[in-house]
Amino acid sequence: MSDNRPAGVERRSFDGDERLATHGEPVYGEPTDGEWRAWNPNRSKLGAMLELGMDTGLEGGETVLYLGAASGTTVSHVADFAGPTYAVEFAARPARDLLEAAKSRDRLFPLLKDARKPETYAHVVESDVDVIVQDVATRGQARVALENRRFLADDGRLLLAVKARSEDVTREPSAVYDDVREELSEGYEFVETRGLEEYHTDHLGIVAQPL
Ligand code: SAM
Repeated sequence: MSDNRPAGVERRSFDGDERLATHGEPVYGEPTDGEWRAWNPNRSKLGAMLELGMDTGLEGGETVLYLGAASGTTVSHVADFAGPTYAVEFAARPARDLLEAAKSRDRLFPLLKDARKPETYAHVVESDVDVIVQDVATRGQARVALENRRFLADDGRLLLAVKARSEDVTREPSAVYDDVREELSEGYEFVETRGLEEYHTDHLGIVAQPL
């Protein structure tokens, strides 16, 4: 196991398997021992990045802006160990489940907003967040990260999962990643990039810092 785990993310045994886990109410049917719940890296790009030992810089307790929260699978784990966690999701259906996950988490703030329009939540999200986690799986993933750069502290980090097929199903993922990296470099410098294939087909994990 890598040493890159934030405080509040532990390795615990569930049914004889050592798994990453956070302390909180279960959200997606994951195994729980009543206090800790397993974090499934096959269901979570950030979970995969941690399993793979990527240099996320997460320590625990930080302020997080999470883009593409869906029904709360990953962001609920984040809110278990982070500080204030703003969770942006624009689809109403998954957002209902996200609201449910937030009921037992007083640091999780769901926002039914479009991540391409950061001005619509700029009055709610504090500036200088420590971390942006992004998993929107939509066309224009680099642009979303650049447009939300305004919220990130100068020494903050972007933890981005790029889904190649969301940009262009017809192109080789490696060509898509090159384009995304090039566009992203307008506003970020890279700390680490790594394929998440072991857990998520055609996804690239990127850790970056604002320029
Ligand atoms: N991050 C989630 C997790 O690990 O639990 C899964 C996210 S899913 C792959 C992508 C989500 O991003 C979808 O729920 C989709 O509705 C949302 N999304 C896509 N484009 C968005 C946008 N512009 N603004 C907000 N949410 C967006």
